[in-house]
Amino acid sequence: MNQQIAKRLDKFIESRNPATGEILGEFRQSDAADVSEAAKEARTTQKSWVALGVDGRNRILNRLIGVMLDRADEIASVVSSENGKPRSEALGMILPISGNVKLHTKTARKLAKGVKVSPTFFIGSKARIFYQPLGVVGLIMPWNFPFESGIKHMLPALAAGNAVLQKPSPFQPLVGELVKSLFEDAGVPKGLVQMVHGFAETGQAVIDHSDAICFIGSTRVGREVGMRAVQRLIPMVLELGGNDPAVVRFDADLDLTARGLVSGTCFNSGQVCNGIERIYAHTSIAEPLTKHILKWVKELKLADGLRTDYDIGPMTWPPQEEVYQKHLDDALTKGATLAYGGKAIKLGKGRIWSPTVLTGMTHEMLMMREETFGPFLPLMTFTDDDEAIRLANDSQYGLAASVWSRDIKTAGKMAGQLKGGHVMINNAVQSGGCATLPFGGEGDSGVGRLSGEQAYFNWVTQKSQMLSPKSSKDLWMPYQSNAEKMILGLAKGFFGRSMGERLVGWANFLLSSKS
Ligand code: NAD
Repeated sequence: MNQQIAKRLDKFIESRNPATGEILGEFRQSDAADVSEAAKEARTTQKSWVALGVDGRNRILNRLIGVMLDRADEIASVVSSENGKPRSEALGMILPISGNVKLHTKTARKLAKGVKVSPTFFIGSKARIFYQPLGVVGLIMPWNFPFESGIKHMLPALAAGNAVLQKPSPFQPLVGELVKSLFEDAGVPKGLVQMVHGFAETGQAVIDHSDAICFIGSTRVGREVGMRAVQRLIPMVLELGGNDPAVVRFDADLDLTARGLVSGTCFNSGQVCNGIERIYAHTSIAEPLTKHILKWVKELKLADGLRTDYDIGPMTWPPQEEVYQKHLDDALTKGATLAYGGKAIKLGKGRIWSPTVLTGMTHEMLMMREETFGPFLPLMTFTDDDEAIRLANDSQYGLAASVWSRDIKTAGKMAGQLKGGHVMINNAVQSGGCATLPFGGEGDSGVGRLSGEQAYFNWVTQKSQMLSPKSSKDLWMPYQSNAEKMILGLAKGFFGRSMGERLVGWANFLLSSKS
């Protein structure tokens, strides 16, 4: 496919290592005609994928785990060099991906022969739901987790018998090609997993040529993608931005919580949709908590383009620095205090945003209202649990949240009151890797859920099938004189309010059906 693209276009995407500036590769951009061709090839190959049957498909998808383990070193190198994240974080993604392989292949097996359901009041009928693939599922991906998201969200679609057409972020084409080669190494038919590269126009073409859309990215682009998908009336899931709150109660284990907050904000250099973006600390512990946070941020090792054992890597997408600077300046102008960091450090050829701790934050500041997407720990205080919930929920987003407390019962109650599709207690971010949990948000954070068993159902069409006995004719036209009595008898027999009413109903039904 890429060679055909190469012949037709002269526009390239240059992939660079954000830490060293090294050019990692050049990739042809796909125009609308290329995407159409890729979709056509995927559509043709999908038929042979379906023909393999569920066990054949599952065997291949399960092989992906072994392929990832065998190629772990290459995965760590490619992902770390193009995305900037530590090798350990890149390798860590094998775990949630493998969890998703197991989950979705199991679901595919379970649903292969359809699911028998009650025929309700249709006596003697057999009712069954069958799940059929949609055809070609289009995926448009962001730059922050190109390996994990790139594979994980294709799995339920493939397990359900679809082909996939993915456009990775234009800043991660190398990882996109790695993802494709891992699937091909596992044995998927050539052409089933299509990668197209490019910017907005390529993404638009993916929407135009797919039968369903999985979009992960910013809220602004998500709205545009949603509108285009609605024009075509195709199913979609939109996973968008977040401004996720962490609530630290007065009874939290401060040192443990501080370390968890640092990890929950700085994981993937803070470029995480469900990473902590706002911290609300009970007024009685805000000061000691800040001291513990400062202790932990000082422990973090920054990448310099040479070392591999670092915690915070270079900004994957350098223009994001403008957002960091704007949010920081805004907070400082409006009265926040900078306790640590607050600047980009040039190490090697990369720019690393230093973990940044701010106190005295208020909801007038941009950082507490909009997604910053960086290693920021902005602290604001509250006086009681109700105020904490009110502040945390005062957001147009609703992706994830966390509560930190020794009182698990109260924390559990608060978790139920917090806005967001994912709430963690005494932890953050990590539940996003739990394959069995649905992932997604409310409000500006998106529509629908990825991950969890139900992710499978995003990419299938449900076919209801009913087999009726001869007796069904009793309720056909032309209606018989006994029809009214039969219907009422049936209604009482099935849904009567008491045993007596139900028995009378059945008696009337039987008598009228014989008359
Ligand atoms: P982005 O919205 O700028 O781009 C996402 C993808 O959409 C890219 O591949 C881009 O090329 C493509 N695109 C851009 N314009 C398009 C258009 N008009 N039509 C079709 N495709 C188009 O996002 P990004 O900067 O790559 O990623 C960061 C964002 O992603 C953050 O907001 C983050 O919160 C979000 N994100 C959300 C989740 C989640 O699960 N909720 C996960 C990861 C990242």
